[in-house]
Amino acid sequence: MSALRSRFLSDSAIREIAETHRAPVLALDCEVVRQQYADLQQALPEVGFYYAIKCFPNTDIVRTLNALGAGFDVATSGEIEMLRELHINPRACIHTHPIKSRRDIHDALRFGCTTFVVDNRDELLKFRSFGHRVGLILRVGFRSADAKVDLSRKFGCTPEEAPQLLALARDLGIRVKGLSFHVGSQSAKPDTHVAAIQRCVAIMREEHAQGGDMNLLDIGGGFPVSYLEPVPHIVEYCKPIREALKAIPEGTEVIAEPGRFLVAPAAMSIAKVIGKARRDGRWWYYLDDGVYGCYSGLIYDHAQYPIRSLKQGPTIDCTLVGPTCDSIDVVAESIQLPELEIGDVVVGEVMGAYTAATATDFNSLPRSEILVLNAPEQAEAVMYIA
Ligand code: PLP
Repeated sequence: MSALRSRFLSDSAIREIAETHRAPVLALDCEVVRQQYADLQQALPEVGFYYAIKCFPNTDIVRTLNALGAGFDVATSGEIEMLRELHINPRACIHTHPIKSRRDIHDALRFGCTTFVVDNRDELLKFRSFGHRVGLILRVGFRSADAKVDLSRKFGCTPEEAPQLLALARDLGIRVKGLSFHVGSQSAKPDTHVAAIQRCVAIMREEHAQGGDMNLLDIGGGFPVSYLEPVPHIVEYCKPIREALKAIPEGTEVIAEPGRFLVAPAAMSIAKVIGKARRDGRWWYYLDDGVYGCYSGLIYDHAQYPIRSLKQGPTIDCTLVGPTCDSIDVVAESIQLPELEIGDVVVGEVMGAYTAATATDFNSLPRSEILVLNAPEQAEAVMYIA
């Protein structure tokens, strides 16, 4: 199970790391990223994967996945800059932000990325002067009550709007090479993926009948991992998706933009108790990391992480909070842990996705130090020189 993979360090190794680092640590194991990638490939062997680097924009993760032949999903000029510095092949990148400034488009084109996502008329018009230099992907929205983060609230045309937008692109001489969707992150069931694939296949067939030549389907991200609740093994989860993909028009390339699944179990937070106080009859433990740091996913990602201490023994119901002066900085309102002392270590597991990525410098506190294990050799990682 993926949750166990996040236990890649023994308790004594965690203790040693905590003793030798002043700041909180986010330990990242690239070997777990490799295993997750292999599992996803096994689950969807016909699909090409583009890592959504927003999820954890870390150079060692990029180098690890690059060495395995993955592509990259970028959404900003900052992410492109990171890939440029790592000499990633721009042809292995897709720009998936449905709303881009003209500057973003120019930066991506200067890098050499020529695939862009759009989801409305005004965005389409931004590509008028680029004609066939670019290949666009039209993002279709599918609301999902099952996902932790419903991304179709903010992005995606309706399935009904898609044919009109495709007709407009044809009239303007802009090449739309495919469709995409994102069912929402940490999608509990594959049902929305399946329904979205079926609807996109119908749109593609209609477009082919109109003389269009779409040959790409991007099935987004959303693949779930186990946090406090178990989720099905990824091979089981993807079975209905694989089945649905059998209906795609012949010659269609299928790609996906996974983020969370590849990196969530690959990192654990190692924080220390820096203070304790008895308030309203219960213990409050103050950690050196909190919701303005790697526990930011508690707020932005609506995640609940498995949290434990390295101590054994009887537990009490206590409160864990972060180091800032803000009272929203609560890591766990009510959690069962042994009685803790200042200096004790608290471990957060499955903390690779949307954690360090959304951490801040609030209160001028140091961010977690990222400790990378099993990083690829420099030479192994740089496969492409742009
Ligand atoms: N693609 C796009 C456009 C996204 O916005 C996201 C997440 O926000 C992802 C891919 C990655 O999704 P996930 O982490 O659920 O795999």
